[in-house]
Amino acid sequence: MSDRFLHGKTALVTGSTSGIGLGIALKLAQRGANLVLNGFGDASEPMAQVKAHGVEVVHHAADMTQPAQIEDMMASAAQRFGRVDILVNNAGIQHVSPIETFPTERWDAVIAINLTSAFHTTRLALPAMRAANWGRIINVASAHGLVASVQKSAYVASKHGIVGLTKVVALETATSGVTCNAICPGWVLTPLVQKQIDAKAAALGVSTEEASRQLLSEKEPSLSFTTPEELGELALFFCSAAGNNVRGVAWNMDGGWVAQ
Ligand code: NAD
Repeated sequence: MSDRFLHGKTALVTGSTSGIGLGIALKLAQRGANLVLNGFGDASEPMAQVKAHGVEVVHHAADMTQPAQIEDMMASAAQRFGRVDILVNNAGIQHVSPIETFPTERWDAVIAINLTSAFHTTRLALPAMRAANWGRIINVASAHGLVASVQKSAYVASKHGIVGLTKVVALETATSGVTCNAICPGWVLTPLVQKQIDAKAAALGVSTEEASRQLLSEKEPSLSFTTPEELGELALFFCSAAGNNVRGVAWNMDGGWVAQ
């Protein structure tokens, strides 16, 4: 891999205004890719961080529950940069509740953002990738794409679903220069997980440090968080020439979570 081996390529990372998405976007930018960021909140700071790597960056605030907005984002990206070469389906939300009381509106939102949005971005990105005979589709699934936990019915279903979608897209593109793979992180300390740590601390009446320690010890044998930077390096590997024939894998980076 040369230093700027993604120079001239364009990456679109959904949900990249914070957390893992931003970590992956920064690694891709560091290696020269132009970036389309997506996600809620003020995008000026994430855009400045990407720009510092000397690449072009735009932000599109498409709501991943809205197919028409996803279509607009993909069309804008193609208009601005010619095509999307690297698609990272990362946007995701969590809701924790027993299934009997799981709010149906939350079920629909989790499935729409974590799974259905990737169907839309993939179907819209693939024609130009096929025409160029090069493309990378990287789906950010989860250890919960491989194993389950209680009270996470929608999340576990969506993540198992995106692992399945990854395999189908990998097979349908198998004779082309387009690859599709999934990344399955364990615990990563982002706003999504901080919320769960805060809820645990409040429920148990313990400090956030103690809640964090307990959260890790329940699932992650390494007792340490995976970082967005480490996940970004795995995305870079999928984008490299060494990844040309890596197809349909669901690669866990989870401190040993699913080895148990
Ligand atoms: P995060 O909350 O830090 O970031 C989520 C991003 O998605 C934000 O940019 C947010 O604005 C965006 N987003 C949320 N709803 C959206 C919508 N409707 N439309 C567009 N953007 C939307 O979360 P994170 O922890 O970085 O999670 C990123 C991905 O990694 C998710 O798919 C999550 O399931 C997965 N993941 C996270 C962990 C973890 O421990 N944090 C572990 C495994 C998998």
